[in-house]
Amino acid sequence: MYQDALQRELFRVGIIVLAGFAAGWSVGYSLYGLLIGLVVSQIISIRHAATIFKWSYRQGPAPQDSGLIGYSADRIIRREKTLKDRLLNQAKMLQRYNQGIEALKDGVVVLDSAGHITTFNSAATRMLYLRKDDNGQHITHLIRTPQFVRYFRSSDFSEPLQFDLRNVSLQVQITEFGIDQKIMLVRDVTERKRVETMRQDFIADVSHELRTPLTVINGYLEMLSDMDTPAPLSKALAQMDSQANRMTNLVNDLIQLSKLESASRERDGVSFDLTALCHQVAGEMKGYSGDAEVRINTERSLIVDGFKEEMHSALTNLVTNAIKYGDGKQVDIDIAPSDRGIEVAVTDQGPGIPPEHLSRVTERFYRVDESRESTVGGSGLGLSIVKHALEHHDAELKIESALGQGSTFSFVIPSFRRENNA
Ligand code: ADP
Repeated sequence: MYQDALQRELFRVGIIVLAGFAAGWSVGYSLYGLLIGLVVSQIISIRHAATIFKWSYRQGPAPQDSGLIGYSADRIIRREKTLKDRLLNQAKMLQRYNQGIEALKDGVVVLDSAGHITTFNSAATRMLYLRKDDNGQHITHLIRTPQFVRYFRSSDFSEPLQFDLRNVSLQVQITEFGIDQKIMLVRDVTERKRVETMRQDFIADVSHELRTPLTVINGYLEMLSDMDTPAPLSKALAQMDSQANRMTNLVNDLIQLSKLESASRERDGVSFDLTALCHQVAGEMKGYSGDAEVRINTERSLIVDGFKEEMHSALTNLVTNAIKYGDGKQVDIDIAPSDRGIEVAVTDQGPGIPPEHLSRVTERFYRVDESRESTVGGSGLGLSIVKHALEHHDAELKIESALGQGSTFSFVIPSFRRENNA
């Protein structure tokens, strides 16, 4: 194609120049004729260039030429058409994506690297009370719930966040994509939360209802244990007493767990001295710890903004476990301030936990060794209580254990919960 066009172009120039030369030669001015031929061919080229220039600004028809200019125009027209088709396809695809996103029941909000809203769908408008002109606004200026603001600023989106916005429970999951861009999926979980609350209320109610008969049973058992009873009956009474105690512990732990689960994350905390609380827990363990010594390793008092009763439960459960499973050896409570906040660790020198059980011990009623359970006691809810109580302090339970070398249960209370007591 190109070769043909080039040949035609050269042929045309050649003909014009030759015609000029021949005409000049016939009148005895061959050089002038050649010059005129060249000028004419140049004028034709300039005219063609002018046509293509105008055409490029869409001010005239496409150049009709069989030479190089016509060939180039033809190529440009074809390329433009391919581009147009491609753009049209992309526009259609984009439209389909947008329609898909728009049809989603979940809210979708796309954010730029700084957290400004780029686009969002109707469901997001409804759930987050956004307006059409909110594009470009920073997300934390529009969703001001402290929990959400903290979650967004933390940049840790590994877990979804659940929070309430004007009586509706929302679950937000942020995913990063491209260069620092984020897509935020918002789901209305009000119904799910209602069912969950019903389940929690049911467990709490049943546990409360069990308390009264248990108190009566325990009372009679205590009365009977003070009486002279024949040996076989004494044995049966001892077993009944131990099982009734177990049930009381279970009911108490269930009530505590339901309270923790239903407690609002929006509550205001109070200041308390974590070091003093650890000393209090160690003191309360005196009658229980037997040979095991509970040592507190800290230099000074550290004030925390949180929920004292819940932290008390968490520490009591961790220390109780360390004593229970620690083979009567020393238990250490380490508390130390760090850049991350306040680091707390409870370490025992017991037999440790096999690695395959580590990820499951915080599950309700999960026990590493069912056969030991009857000798050491416990409801199987202790670590679930710890996990929940720590979550309310924005802390996460970490368990390190090596078989035969004991276990360390640790957590970090983040800096923003630490009060300035330098
Ligand atoms: P339990 O009431 O049975 O102690 P927890 O929820 O407190 O229930 O603990 C769950 C399981 O984790 C325990 O049954 C025990 O097998 C294991 N466990 C907890 N703490 C320790 C520890 N310090 N050392 C060894 N095993 C532990």
